[in-house]
Amino acid sequence: MKLENPAPIQWHFSQRAQQLQSSVIRDILKVTVNPDIISFAGGLPSPETFPVERMRAAHDAVLSRVGKVALQYGPSDGYAPLREWIAGSLSTSDSTILPEQVLMLSGSQQGLDLIAKVLIDEGSKVLVETPSYLGALQAFSVYRPNFVSVASDDGGMLPEALEGVADGARLLYSLPNFQNPTGRTMPLERRIALVETCARLGLPLIEDNPYGDLSYRGEPLPKMLNMNPHGVIYMGSFSKVLTPGIRLGYVVAPVALIAKLEQAKQAADLHTAQLTQMVVHEVVKDGFLDEHVPTIRKLYADQCQVMLDALQEFFPKSATWTRPAGGMFIWVTLPKHIDSMELLKEAVQQNVAFVPGAPFYANEPAHNTLRLSFVTVPPEKIRQGVATLGKLIASKL
Ligand code: PMP
Repeated sequence: MKLENPAPIQWHFSQRAQQLQSSVIRDILKVTVNPDIISFAGGLPSPETFPVERMRAAHDAVLSRVGKVALQYGPSDGYAPLREWIAGSLSTSDSTILPEQVLMLSGSQQGLDLIAKVLIDEGSKVLVETPSYLGALQAFSVYRPNFVSVASDDGGMLPEALEGVADGARLLYSLPNFQNPTGRTMPLERRIALVETCARLGLPLIEDNPYGDLSYRGEPLPKMLNMNPHGVIYMGSFSKVLTPGIRLGYVVAPVALIAKLEQAKQAADLHTAQLTQMVVHEVVKDGFLDEHVPTIRKLYADQCQVMLDALQEFFPKSATWTRPAGGMFIWVTLPKHIDSMELLKEAVQQNVAFVPGAPFYANEPAHNTLRLSFVTVPPEKIRQGVATLGKLIASKL
């Protein structure tokens, strides 16, 4: 039996759902599926770097060796050998990270949601960088915090700007390496000052580090996690060093918090796919990333340089931009009167896309900013796209 012409339901969305908005970036990406568009908009890693054959071989190995375990439900905290591997890779000579401190996630984005779920009440003060990662602002927003944007400069958040604003805050969200969206890196002294200040204030410090391994020159700076494993909540991801489609990330935190996050994780999705975790363990356990990640660094460093050179050649002198030491993004600041959201509409008509900067601000947006990603566009297209943008901007001066 099937009802004839039932009246459509008038959905009464929860207050939480009413304030959900679709991400500007995802909306723009819809336009950029058109192959004629040169898109600097996406945050996607380059598919050229995906180790497809290695992943296929690892799937084969896991399925033929332990297929029945890999295809079964698994523990909520994750696949133990992978948690051990992660704990080992994060430990340093003076700071040991234990496997019990690692909770596997279905992408590190899930960690942002779970952390917010267990630490944020409606109206709780949450401190973020200016600007910050849009996906984190979205994830936290669901829990209706009171965002406070902490003054930041080319080295990220200014620790001294925390004095006075940090009282009663539930957490501080920071991105020390090759930040999304600006590409900037937090200097060592500032990391130390931030860790010290948060420890003094008893303020949980989130260190979100999906790009940390993508340093163009030399090793990344020390992690804040290792400076204070009792106060830092660290998030890592396999999205940028292997592939994002497997949705695998992790959070490292003191065990009391991990226990609570695990309960939230159970309620959300029981656990992260066993097969995926076992395959990734198979791939990484013998040092594959040590040979693979340098190839990603090289590709991104080269493409970044192409974009920096093109910006120098084609952008007007009144525009400024960051010079990243790693990662996937360059952040451009235009003369004050140019609204990058309006610029985008015209740019898309000329087949170039980027992400306007405003959505990356929790409070007062700088409308004259924008984010460019250089990793999925070939060099000649980078030059062509930057030239088009440069002309468009010059026409507004
Ligand atoms: N944090 C930052 C800063 C990011 O840029 C991203 C991905 N765009 C994530 C977290 C989420 O990564 P994933 O869920 O793929 O691990």
